[in-house]
Amino acid sequence: CGIVGYVGSRVDGRALDVVMEGLARLEYRGYDSAGVALVADDAIEVRKRAGKLANLAGEIAEHPLDPSRTAIGHTRWATHGGPTDANAHPHLGGPGGRLALIHNGIIENFHPLRAELLAAGVQFRSETDTEVVAHLLAQEYDGDLTAAMLRVVARLEGAFTLLAVHADQPGVVVGARRNSPLVVGLGEGENFLGSDVAAFIGYTREALELEQDQIVTITPERVDVIGFDGEAARGKTFHVDWDAAA
Ligand code: GLU
Repeated sequence: CGIVGYVGSRVDGRALDVVMEGLARLEYRGYDSAGVALVADDAIEVRKRAGKLANLAGEIAEHPLDPSRTAIGHTRWATHGGPTDANAHPHLGGPGGRLALIHNGIIENFHPLRAELLAAGVQFRSETDTEVVAHLLAQEYDGDLTAAMLRVVARLEGAFTLLAVHADQPGVVVGARRNSPLVVGLGEGENFLGSDVAAFIGYTREALELEQDQIVTITPERVDVIGFDGEAARGKTFHVDWDAAA
């Protein structure tokens, strides 16, 4: 029910701070679990916990994360699988878990996709519909996360906002949306993604609206949008002037 993504140019604690603050600002929606993934030192690091954001913060205090410039964060409204630590997002994909994915919404056709992946020998760690997407993305990944996302969304039915990061592309977050919200926050040497502008309002008021069935790729310097048809697209920029700081 809440999604945040961040990429900046400095390798330090900012990526985690931005994502945790974004999740706190989305907390009013209520949720079953919270989790974050960072790209740090050529690997993905994940912390996730059932229950309130304070549980996740406690977990991070106990098991600190390495400095990073790329992070994604999620709060979950459980639809498939109970509100447990294992079902909390992010979900990992690929050998060694080098890809992390978060999702708001429902993948309607996850049953046949799961059966296909199980037949191919993939091991599942959760009961969520989401996890099939993590494994599909990892299967499709050949060095370009955006291209992999484009191939994977073509196989998905339902409503989704997806964000993914890959350890091989430490300065990139890729997002996709279909019948589910996703907004880009535009910064200087950093960019943001959120299911709601509240996710990044503490950092920038310049935003870019995506349309349905679009994929966005953010780096510290760039925001690139394509349609699910693979064609380049342009979002509409706007200024957030409502006072969400209260
Ligand atoms: N369907 C997914 C799950 O149950 C995502 C739920 C959400 O929107 O938070 O894990």
